[in-house]
Amino acid sequence: LKYSEEQAKRKQLYNQIQETKGNIRVFCRCRPLSREESSTGCATVVDFDAAKDGDLGVLTGGSNKRTFKFDRVYTPKDGQVDVFADASPLVVSVLDGYNVCIFAYGQTGTGKTFTMEGPEHNRGVNYRTLEQLFSVARERSDTFTYNLSVSVLEVYNEQIRDLLATSPASKKLEIKQTSEGSHHVPGIVEAKVDNINDVWSVLQAGSNARAVGSNNVNEHSSRSHCILCIMVKTKNLMNGECMKSKLWLVDLAGSERLAKTDAQGERLKEAQNINKSLSALGDVIYALATKSSHIPYRNSKLTHLLQDSLGGDSKTLMFVQISPSEHDLSETLSSLNFATRVRGVELGHARKQI
Ligand code: ADP
Repeated sequence: LKYSEEQAKRKQLYNQIQETKGNIRVFCRCRPLSREESSTGCATVVDFDAAKDGDLGVLTGGSNKRTFKFDRVYTPKDGQVDVFADASPLVVSVLDGYNVCIFAYGQTGTGKTFTMEGPEHNRGVNYRTLEQLFSVARERSDTFTYNLSVSVLEVYNEQIRDLLATSPASKKLEIKQTSEGSHHVPGIVEAKVDNINDVWSVLQAGSNARAVGSNNVNEHSSRSHCILCIMVKTKNLMNGECMKSKLWLVDLAGSERLAKTDAQGERLKEAQNINKSLSALGDVIYALATKSSHIPYRNSKLTHLLQDSLGGDSKTLMFVQISPSEHDLSETLSSLNFATRVRGVELGHARKQI
């Protein structure tokens, strides 16, 4: 009874959200000024006066201020617990059979990895999600059995790398479509996880593998998309029904535009690939938010890979991460514009005017 009540409540909440904005939500999170920024007297360009209503103010110079609207706005004082409290109903819905995608988007250094991974003593969405899934699965164990497994992937220069593979793939990893129409990558490791300790060692193995073959780990991770996929197989013990669902947690490559003079050779190729996949992601989410008849999944590896969990009755959450510093103003505005477009708000306005 407890479960069905809880499920009914969740459904009601989703329906309310869906009525107004479909299944796409955008949360904006601003990091604190760094110690160095504070010590050099760096000015802050963000204003959180109406953050509770989802409004973020940005001082764009002189006395000009632009206001951006999101589903949530987190100030630098909001912690991992506050952020996860809002994401939690969404992640739990994977146990009800929904496919879910969560992204962290933004300029390098704005807290994407902090939000998704988090430091060991203050973990982020990835770890809290798995902890929550195990806990809810335990509560429902009279009615359901859940089998959880995880894959850890990286997309770099439009190529997929399996971070849990013990030996390098002999062939390029490719996305294939099954006869039922779902997408998968044959040959990738799907590590079964039974409890949170299993998860910890898998995540650790994933981040160790990320470092291999790159001279500078931070630089490499800012130019690749890091993806944790949680696959759930559910069996309803009452009626024997089985279900499969997936939850993707994605720490995206840095969205900063490269200075023209920097862009040569490998860097130029990387920058073009990042640009391509981030715009493809933006285009897909925008097409979904505006209920377009054509969703351009095939324009990048990332959107192709996540296709089953983007659209339909899947749920999407994007964290747009920003810096409060005046020095980052132009990148901040560019991220906020991207996130605003993604919500499909612009079209909403255009329609109203017509
Ligand atoms: P990104 O993944 O976007 O490149 P990071 O997650 O590495 O950025 O964050 C950059 C720095 O800012 C790190 O030192 C991180 O600990 C710090 N940081 C980011 N967000 C927060 C936050 N909300 N609270 C405290 N520190 C943060």
